[in-house]
Formats: sequence, structure tokens, C-alpha cells
Amino acid sequence: MEISELVASKVLDVPDFPKPGVLFKDLMPLFADGTAFAAAVDAIIAEQGAGSFDVVAGIEARGFVVAAAVAYATGKGVVPIRKAGKLPRKTVTASYALEYGEAVIEVHADAFMAGERVLVVDDVLATGGTAAATLDLVERAGGRVSGFSVLLELAFLAGREKLAPRPVHALLTV
Ligand code: IMP
Repeated sequence: MEISELVASKVLDVPDFPKPGVLFKDLMPLFADGTAFAAAVDAIIAEQGAGSFDVVAGIEARGFVVAAAVAYATGKGVVPIRKAGKLPRKTVTASYALEYGEAVIEVHADAFMAGERVLVVDDVLATGGTAAATLDLVERAGGRVSGFSVLLELAFLAGREKLAPRPVHALLTV
């Protein structure tokens, strides 16, 4: 089975979550299936190339799951990109617009060595606001983004355009 078909078979559509009118894509069935999850992690590594990055950054919170698995499988470390106020030491922060208000994410200021190659991963690319802020944050913290992978891309929200010219790798685009 193609990886896109496998991912598609493990995504559940949840109407009206987290609010009325939103169709939430729930990837918990993919995480819960050992064979499918391993195939997804392997597909990300095959696309990016294990030699192309030094460390894996995961976006809170489901991105942590993907990042940890990719990092373990390739012998690399993990850097968490966190929501504001969670990290105990000096941070670099980035803010981005939400439909109402703004969100702030941060990373420890010493998380990356200068020029370290960072593979950024998350579960879903929607509007691209989170990812755009993350890629900017990684580079302002001294890392160099080597690639960006997600399990699922919601193409109708055009997140990919917000990240251009950076390439986006998605196992499944709907
Ligand atoms: P964006 O900033 O609009 O691209 O939203 C992406 C972030 O929101 C990611 O960190 C996702 O985990 C989360 N997200 C947005 N939509 C969904 C969804 O339908 N399912 C799961 N996560 C989502």
C-alpha cells in the first residue's frame, strides 16, 4: 500500500471540533497502529535522508511524537518547539496570528549549535502559521532548517504557500 493510502486509512474526520464548522483531522489512529506509525516515520526519513539533518525539532504537542520517533530511528536528538511559558531557561520566541488573537511559541536559546541542520516535523500543516513561525524561530535560534515534514497537509488552507520557497514534504495531502 502507498504511504499516502496508509495514512488516509488511519485519519478520522471529526466534525465541529474544536469549534462548530471545523472538520478536525484526528491522527490518533495512525499513532496507535505500530505498523502504520513505523511506516510513516520511515517514509519521512527516506524522503529527507538520514544524513541531511543533525537534530529533529517537533512542534507541540503531536509533533513531539513524530519528532521523537524520527530522532530515535536516526540516532539524532530532539528539540521541542513549545507554547509560551513552558521552557525553564532563556528562550527565543516567535508570535503569529490566529483567527482571534495571537499565539507565541518558543525554544531554548541554546537549543541549536550555530548552523546545525534541523529537520522540523509536525502532524498536520493547516494554514501554515505555526510552521512559518517555527521555521523562523529555528533560524533565529541559530539552527538551519534542512527540511519540513508533516504526516498530513490540508491543501485547501494553502499553508504551503506561506512557507514558500521552502519545500514542504507531506505523507498525505488532502
Ligand atoms: P496551522 O498553524 O493553521 O498550520 O495549524 C497547524 C497546527 O495546528 C499543527 O501544530 C497541528 O497540530 C494543529 N492542527 C490544525 N488543524 C488540525 C487538524 O485538523 N488535526 C490535527 N491538528 C491540527
